[in-house]
This record gives sequence, C-alpha cells and structure tokens, in this order.
Amino acid sequence: MNAAIADVLIPLALDTAYSYAVPAGLDLAEGDVVQIPLGPRETVGVVWGLRDGAAGSNLRKVTARIADEGMAPPLRRLVDWIARYTLAPKGSALAMALRLPEDGPRTETAKVGVRATGAAPSRITAARSKVVAVAADGAVRGKRALALESGVSAGVIDGLIDDGVLETVTLAPERVAEPPDPDHPHPPLSGPQRTAAEALIATLTAPPAGGGPAGEGGVTLLEGVTGSGKTEIYFEAVAEAVRRGVQSLVLMPEIALTAQFLDRFTARFGARPAAWHSGIGGRRRERIRAGVLAGEIPVVVGARSALFLPFRHLGLVVVDEEHEAAYKQDDGVCYHARDMAVVRGKLENAAVVLASATPSIETRVNAARGRYRRVVLPERFGGRRLPEIRAIDMRREAIPRGRYLSPTLTAAVAETNARGEQALLFLNRRGYAPLTLCRACGHRYQCPNCSTWLVEHRFRRALVCHHCGHAERRPDACAECGTVDSLTACGPGVERIAEEVAATFPDKRVIVLSSDFPGGAERLRAELQTVAEGGCDIVVGTQLVAKGHNFPLLTLVGVLDADIGLASGDPRAAERTFQLLQQVTGRAGRGEKPGRALVQTYQPEHPVIAALISGDAERFYEEETAAREVAGLPPFGRLAALIVSAAEREAAEAHGQALARVAEPPPGVMVLGPAEAPLALVRGRHRFRLLVKAEREIDIQSYLRDWIARGPKPRGNVRVAIDVDPQSF
Ligand code: ADP
Ligand code: ZN
Repeated sequence: MNAAIADVLIPLALDTAYSYAVPAGLDLAEGDVVQIPLGPRETVGVVWGLRDGAAGSNLRKVTARIADEGMAPPLRRLVDWIARYTLAPKGSALAMALRLPEDGPRTETAKVGVRATGAAPSRITAARSKVVAVAADGAVRGKRALALESGVSAGVIDGLIDDGVLETVTLAPERVAEPPDPDHPHPPLSGPQRTAAEALIATLTAPPAGGGPAGEGGVTLLEGVTGSGKTEIYFEAVAEAVRRGVQSLVLMPEIALTAQFLDRFTARFGARPAAWHSGIGGRRRERIRAGVLAGEIPVVVGARSALFLPFRHLGLVVVDEEHEAAYKQDDGVCYHARDMAVVRGKLENAAVVLASATPSIETRVNAARGRYRRVVLPERFGGRRLPEIRAIDMRREAIPRGRYLSPTLTAAVAETNARGEQALLFLNRRGYAPLTLCRACGHRYQCPNCSTWLVEHRFRRALVCHHCGHAERRPDACAECGTVDSLTACGPGVERIAEEVAATFPDKRVIVLSSDFPGGAERLRAELQTVAEGGCDIVVGTQLVAKGHNFPLLTLVGVLDADIGLASGDPRAAERTFQLLQQVTGRAGRGEKPGRALVQTYQPEHPVIAALISGDAERFYEEETAAREVAGLPPFGRLAALIVSAAEREAAEAHGQALARVAEPPPGVMVLGPAEAPLALVRGRHRFRLLVKAEREIDIQSYLRDWIARGPKPRGNVRVAIDVDPQSF
C-alpha cells in the first residue's frame, strides 16, 4: 500500500519538513524530488519521510514527482549531518545539494557571460559596489547569476556594462568530455611514489577488476613536501578507481582549480575532467549533474560545492591542499569542505585522501591518534632538493622610505636573472597600499560600512574595501581638510612592489599576478603559461601564486613581509603563516635547477620564521600542537562562535548580553563575551561575538541548540549567526 503522507523538505531556510498528502496513484519513495504547493505558489522539495496515517483533509497534496531519479540515501544523510553539525536549517543544507541552474534558458550554440574589465565605475552606488566586489575575482558569470550573487537587479548589471565596468563574453559550448583513460601513457612513478600510491589504492573499497580483496576505506593523510609529486600519486588512486568502475571526486580550493591543473589531469588521463566551480554556467552545470547522477562522469575535479553532487557510486574523494582555510566558508551554511568530505566519504563507504605539504593540526592529530592513516613523502621527486631558506633581517638593511626590497634581496634577484632564471616576489596583500592618509591633517580613509581601512588600487584608480567591496575614487584633495595633493600611500601592496621592481629592474620583464587583475581566468591562464615558459623574469604576486603552480625556471622566491600574518591575535596565525610561507618558498627549484628562498622579516627569531629557516616543520607542529592542547583549543576541545549583528551597535550588544544571561553553561562548557567581534563593523552591521569553549566529550551542538532555544528571539534587524569550529578565534 502506498504511504498516505509525505514529509517534504523544502530548500529554504526551514528546519523541518512539511507534511503533504500523497494523491492516490502517485507511488512515492524517500528521496523523490517533488513539486508541491507552498503558500500561493508551487515549489520543489525532496521527500524526506513517508508515513501512513489518516491523510487529514487539511493537508495539501503533492502535485507531482518531477525527476526520474531521487536523491540517494547517502546524500540525504549528508544533508542531515551538515544541518545537525552546523546548526543550519535543514532546508538550507538541502539547497546546496539541489542547487538548481543559476541562469535561465539560453541558446545551445553559445554561452554569454559577463566579467569585470578592471575599469572603475564612473558613478558608485551601494548596489554597484556590491557587484564590483563580487566581480572583482575576474570570473565569468551569467548576468542573472551575477545579479543574484550581488543581491541587485539585472538593471544594475546592464548599467555597469554600459559604463564599461563589466564586459560581455561569449564562450563556445564545452564539448562533452571523453572519459579519462586510466592507462593513458604517462611517466612512471618513482619508487617512493609507487609505494605511496599503492598505499592509497589499498584503501579503495571497490573490489579490483581482476578479483582480489577490496580495501576498507577510511581516511588517509598524504603528506609530502612541496614537489614530492603528490598529484601524480593520487592520480594513480583515481586511475585505479576508474578501472574499478567507481567515481572519484578531487576537491581543490577554488583558487587552485586552474587551467594548469586541468591540463595536468589531461596529460595523465588523455581527457579533461569534468570541472565544477563557480565560473561554470547553468547549462554546463546541469550537464555535469546529470552525468554524475547517471554514473557517466567518472571523475569530477571541483571546488567545495562539488561535495553535493549526486554521485551514483562514489569510490574516492581526494581533498588537495587539505589545510586551506578557503575550504571553510559560509554559503548560507557555514561548513568546512574538508570535514564534510570526510563525512561524505564515510556515508558512501568511499576512500578519502587528504593531501598537503603542510597539513592542518586537526588532521595531523587525527593521524597521530590512529584515526587516519598517514603516508609521508619526505623528499622531492627526482632527487630535487628543497630550497635553501634564509632570513633577511630587515633591522640591518638600509632601505629608503617607501621602498620595500632590501639590498640583499635586490642583489639576489639580479643574480638570478643574470643566470637566466626567474624570481618570484611574494607579498600577501592585494592593491597598491593598505592605508591612505592625509599628510596635512592625518585623516585616514576608512570604509563607511566596515571597521577597516580602504585599500588603494592604482589599476582601478580607486580606494576599495576588501570586506564589502565599497569603492570610491581616490580624491585629489583630502576629504577632511581639503588640502590638495596631500594624500600619501602607506605600506605596500603587490601593485606598489611591482612599481618598485619596474623602477629597479627597468629592462626586466615583470608580471604581476593578483586576483584583482582584469581578464579573469583566461588572462590568468595566459600569464601563468608565460611564466612557465620563461617569458618573464620577475613575478610579483599574492597568494594566488603561492600554491599549485609549477614554474620550472623559478629558482628564487623572495618573501617581502613574512611578518604580516603574525601580528594578529588569532591563535591560528602561527599555523597559517607557517603553511603559507612553506607553500610559497616551495615554489623555488621545482625544475632542474636548485632553488632558494629569502624571507624579509623584522623578527627572525620568531618561532614560525625560525622553523621555516631550519626546515624543522616537525618541531614547529609539535610545539603548536602542545600549545593548543594546553589551551584546550581544537582539536583538543570544541569551539563555536555566535556572531550577533545589527545595524545599531546597541541592539547587537544588548542581544548578545541577553543571550549571555541565559547561557547556563554546564560543567565543561565556557561562554565568553559578548565582546566586539574582531571585525566590529562589516557592511554597515555592528558585530558582537560570544565564544563557546567546550571539552571534547561535550556535544556542543545540543548545548548550542538548547541555549538558542532558551534565548530571546532576535528582533528587528538583529541577526545571530552560528559558526561551529570557527577558523579564526
Ligand atoms: P606536489 O604537489 O607534491 O608539490 P607535484 O605533484 O606538483 O608535487 O610534482 C612536482 C613536479 O614533479 C611536477 O612538475 C611533476 O610534474 C613532477 N613529477 C612528479 N612525479 C613525477 C613522475 N613520476 N615523473 C615525472 N615527473 C614527475
Ligand atoms: Zn567595507
């Protein structure tokens, strides 16, 4: 007998499924995608449960089943899991798995999208600055997708196209990819690589084609120094998964998902993988979803949202650069893609590989506790040496004001270029200068919506907020005292370093790589190609160049300001800085010739810098881990942040205090705050933070749930956002 009532989860910010009557003759199963009435309109939902019972006449009826294939149990469990873990409404978690095509219908022959040209708008409004902020990454997006993402009307986009700030681009439709060939000819692995690859293959749960025992899945940390050939190693596991007829998902931070990586995949497998990221348009997205669901696409290489693709038989999940903070983001649901990849792997009984040269402390601790296997490659591929790293003590260097390259680094760049080799100068700061101030009155240009300084961008001729995207023209006269030509740029950004490099090395070919530069992915691809082929002498770049890329002629890495990340009060700052500096210095000497790295610092004795120079990563990790354990910080304890925000400071603070009054933490739980959040004002909203620290054994989610339920309901424009496992604390 057919069930009478269907509990349907709707992809909106709702925590519970709604009940509908199942009309006679409609045979529904759990996971079915259905059309249902909701208020005055019809919408889409997924059958989360079915039950018998007197179908009360007051229940509205399911309209129809709308897809041949429902959502498989593991994906439904993932939605449940994420909602429970992050405390997001279940419907919001479902929305990530259902995400319908972002763009409307379009022609078969060509796809039209828009992207930023880099030109500054002639007139700036709140709506326009939102679009500029979203488009700043240079990605191509559908017009509607861009309007939706920016929260503006399509008219704003059209206005910006007319203004020359956005341009339309036509892309040829992507051809349907041929399947990757696991046995496509490729260079053989080295001995240690082979051993590592076999260790990964041994975990695959799908039985080998020729018979033999299957592995038991679980998580494996693949830890190898930069240049050890981790990619080639996990490619072997992917190849074996393809042979065994199961699907693989390779997750990468969006920024690392470059054409260069896809080319590498193509070289190994003789075909391009299905790529999934925010720049992929609606029709293509639908095709990939359908192919993954049908089991016809064996390998997806994707950004974090690829986690929610409806794989038919997922056998392997690889998380590359697993330590990347970019894996944790708020997409309506605030989740860490690496952690959710581990969950999905478990639910699908798939093997999971976490790859990194600098694993997160969480993952290392999991490996040390025996929860994850650990495969280590201490050496670079082909006997190449790791770069020699030296500190340049900036207290001893004579540098004129407004200049940032020390004489030592300048000489090293010149020597390197003289040998016909390339140098990379790294500064993890976009724009020209992080602060603009008036010499006459001391006025500093601050964002009107956020508690941050405006960053000067010379290419865009604007002062820009990196948090909300607010952009304004850099004025000729001080806005405060009216003095003309009194504004000074303070501190360096990559654009300023590029200017200094051009002045110091006028006959050298310099390329600047930063996410701000116009032209988007295609231009970036061309520039990376130029660097890889030796068509440039000096690269100046932000963290965009820190990872993933292979530049065979690059033998010198100069870090301009190693201290940038260390100043913040965030306990993760040391780990982050260490990882970033390891990654970027690891760009040197990946080709035939040995490399070196020079690190400009004012505190060479700082433990992070000292560990980097000595190459003693193990000791650094041990000390950091011990410090975390003593402080009861993750992964030794649990942490969550509640951010209370409102347009008025008082309202945010009052709600935070009201919550704190009813916190009633049980033994083992501590509630701190409310205190002003590290960024006290963002997009015009004042923010207060409550921190919850709990011992490991405590179910912090149930505590949070009870507490929030006890607390006052936020009124007016007050909002409470929950961040379980915040990345900065
Ligand atoms: P990692 O990701 O560990 O930093 P990569 O996978 O990028 O290292 O490999 C470093 C370099 O060595 C790349 O240029 C890669 O093409 C090369 N390489 C790695 N393994 C092999 C191999 N077995 N044969 C030939 N080249 C290899
Ligand atoms: Zn701002």
